Amino acid sequence: MTPDQLIRPEILRLSAYHVADATGMVKLDAMENPYSLPDNLRTELAEKLGEAAINRYPDPHAAAVQNALRQAFSIDADYAIMLGNGSDELIQIVASALAKPGATLLSVEPSFVMYRMIAECTGLRYVGVPLRPDFSLDEAAMLDAIEREQPELVFLAYPNNPTGNVFERAAIERILAAAPGLVVIDEAYHAFAGGMSFIADLARFDNLVLMRTVSKLGLAGLRLGYMVGKPGWIKEFDKIRLPYNINVLTQVAAKFALDHVSVLERQAGLLVEERARLMSALSVLQGVQAFPSDANFILFRLPDAAKVFTGLKRRGILIKNLHGGHPLLDNCLRVTVGAPLENDAFLAALRNELELDN
Ligand SMILES: *Cc1c(COP(=O)(O)O)cnc(C)c1O
Repeated sequence: MTPDQLIRPEILRLSAYHVADATGMVKLDAMENPYSLPDNLRTELAEKLGEAAINRYPDPHAAAVQNALRQAFSIDADYAIMLGNGSDELIQIVASALAKPGATLLSVEPSFVMYRMIAECTGLRYVGVPLRPDFSLDEAAMLDAIEREQPELVFLAYPNNPTGNVFERAAIERILAAAPGLVVIDEAYHAFAGGMSFIADLARFDNLVLMRTVSKLGLAGLRLGYMVGKPGWIKEFDKIRLPYNINVLTQVAAKFALDHVSVLERQAGLLVEERARLMSALSVLQGVQAFPSDANFILFRLPDAAKVFTGLKRRGILIKNLHGGHPLLDNCLRVTVGAPLENDAFLAALRNELELDN
């Protein structure tokens, strides 16, 4: 008996999520916040982690973290919260719960690759509706696809990854009204989106749940995502969550960081300023087309993305090459907004690479 005789064919066809080696590089590939906590908070956190009861199983509901999230992000008591080991896990839980035989997950393309990957793993049929060439939502195509496919599940990232833009709010509202199933709005980049959110719409749409993560806000290492929705939905999803999915150290550190959320929000504010600076710098570069972003990264297109990507890497700058991922991403690269010196290093290296081309 060999693995390929036993493993499900759709798993055999998948390739594992690739993470590039970033040792020694200026790391601008993964939408991380470049800033750490200030020294005094790190010392305090170290003390709290030292006292954590790692000999015990964690609180299965991580109630202290849930309360800290409610406080930090003003989440109304009418809604329930479920925590995930990253919002990736929450995507998996929702998909598993809705994966009746023949059920469909519908999303847009290009978008977050885990939607497709998790659909395939959980046995959902995946349908991707292409965005327009400017990465705006093709509302007519979406409404057609909803009518035709009757998806149990729709995923929309707001802002979208890897394009960085937010889709037109009114179009999303019409999708919510037309969808026969659940619509998940994934607000992973909420911290950089100037307050744009669908959280207030939970009251209006019974088929809406919201997903967020603390990863992009500066806590990627903790692996903590959260879902907010009407209790009726969350109660069902909670049944298939593994009981201790948020470990003791994450619970302690997340509560501590969320109690100091203003520090993280200030860092996000700096990144939003840097995003504007990076955007104007990219816009004046000959041959570079930068796309508007409400996230902590910028997508841009140039004549030979693969060559520039490799050149940047040789110069110690790691960003993300999206060329080949989707036809609409032809010759596109994605750079995470870093600290000012990192962004300067990226821009200098990019200018050098482009000059070498001329
Ligand atoms: C990064 C990202 C996530 C995953 O976040 P984790 O909480 O780190 O798993 C989810 N959705 C989108 C759109 C993302 O870009």
